[in-house]
Amino acid sequence: MRYRSVGPLFSRPSPTQATNAAMCQYYYLHHHHMPPCMRDIDMVVHYVFCKYAMTDSAGNKMPCGNLQYDDTQNIDYNDPCATGGCLSSPDCSSGGCRLVELGGRWICCSCRRGGNSGRWCRHRMRGSPDTFCYHVCCTECQPDAKKR
Ligand SMILES: [Zn+2]
Ligand SMILES: [Zn+2]
Ligand SMILES: [Zn+2]
Ligand SMILES: [Zn+2]
Ligand SMILES: [Zn+2]
Repeated sequence: MRYRSVGPLFSRPSPTQATNAAMCQYYYLHHHHMPPCMRDIDMVVHYVFCKYAMTDSAGNKMPCGNLQYDDTQNIDYNDPCATGGCLSSPDCSSGGCRLVELGGRWICCSCRRGGNSGRWCRHRMRGSPDTFCYHVCCTECQPDAKKR
């Protein structure tokens, strides 16, 4: 059996916190959507795990039974930016938001073919059939209304 010390791999949110406390803590992060995405800020729960944290069958880390809100990170839910910590939404940068806006089916503005259901266009390039179009759905792409 080989064990690795995991202690130093976790970033500690603040050096004043007791690091051996047997409890998990949580606080909220907020994710901004980037123009032209018009969605509101997402509040995302963020856990700080202690050594008793568990891992579920899917491999996701779960807080232990002793979960407490970390009120040193308190934020104003009406104006979360006031205390900083602004992050950009991974859904936005990946094209996930636009995909939802397009109703899950869209016509690529780059190769002008429809029927796309992923975040990027899987049509093969004309002239080089080994390569996908790879265009990530953008504001120029149109919803594909054919099958709805
Ligand atoms: Zn814990
Ligand atoms: Zn913010
Ligand atoms: Zn977005
Ligand atoms: Zn395309
Ligand atoms: Zn496009």
